Parts: sequence; structure tokens; C-alpha cells
Amino acid sequence: MPEDCIFCRIVTGDIPGRIVHETDHAIAFLDANPLAPGHTLVIPKQHYARLEDIPGEEAAELFGAVHDLVPQIEAAVDADAVSVGINDGEAAGQEVPHSHVHLVPRFEGDGGGPFHAIAPASEEPADEELDEIAATIRGD
Ligand code: 5GP
Ligand code: ZN
Repeated sequence: MPEDCIFCRIVTGDIPGRIVHETDHAIAFLDANPLAPGHTLVIPKQHYARLEDIPGEEAAELFGAVHDLVPQIEAAVDADAVSVGINDGEAAGQEVPHSHVHLVPRFEGDGGGPFHAIAPASEEPADEELDEIAATIRGD
């Protein structure tokens, strides 16, 4: 565990966190600088920087926690919806290098945007380009 990782220190209890959920390999706590009441972070207990670093079973448990927490948080703060997101890597806005899932309660008319607002829209791609990207992702 990196000594200077804030989230590892929350896992060990070294620094306080408002824990809302805990399983063998995942833990969730309130964000200290919430975008909305109930803004929660769900993390693997082990230190993994990026999503791809998390072993499959631990990743499944992490997303199981996300699945359980979304309705609980929505009900707890009487939200209308929840934005679920991961800033996976610095260029995507990740500041804490311990992988985490943001659960941000959303309210009708809260002035926030959808996931499509986080990046500039690309020019409409040609069908061939889409086909090529899909094939590359599949590893054809
Ligand atoms: P990122 O930008 O890395 O996706 O998000 C990091 C999140 O961690 C931010 O929303 C920030 O408010 C939260 N955060 C940073 N330091 C602490 C802390 O010490 N305690 C808690 N509970 N949240 C933190
Ligand atoms: Zn860590």
C-alpha cells in the first residue's frame, strides 16, 4: 500500500471516512467535496491505480457494490437519478491514483450535464472508421 494514498489510509482507518458500505474487497464512503448531497466513492480495498489493474473478481465485487448502493443513495437523499462515473486515468480527470467509482445523486433541474458533456463532440465519423475501431477493439 502506498503510504501517501489517501484512499488506502481511509481503508485502514488511518484517516476518517464516512463509510456507507463494505464488503471483503470493496468499500464506499462519502466524498469529502461532494458535487451533491450523498456523493459517494466506491473503491477496491487494495490499491489499484486504474480500472484495468483490478483483478476480475474484485472488479465484479466493486460493481456489485455500485449496483447495491445506487438505489440506497438515491432513496437516502431523495434524488431523482444518479450519475455513475470513473475518471480512469489522468487525462480523464483522475486526481486520486487509487481507482474509484463516483456515485453522484442527481436532481431534476440541478443544472448538471449528462455524460456526453464531459468531452467535446467529435465530428460525425464515417461508417468505415466506426467499423475499423470496433474491429480493433475486438482484436480482429
Ligand atoms: P477524481 O478526480 O480522482 O476522480 O476524484 C477524487 C475524489 O476524491 C474527489 O471527488 C475528491 O473530492 C475526493 N477526495 C479527495 N480527498 C479526499 C479525502 O481525503 N476524503 C474523501 N472522503 N474524499 C476525498
Ligand atoms: Zn491507495
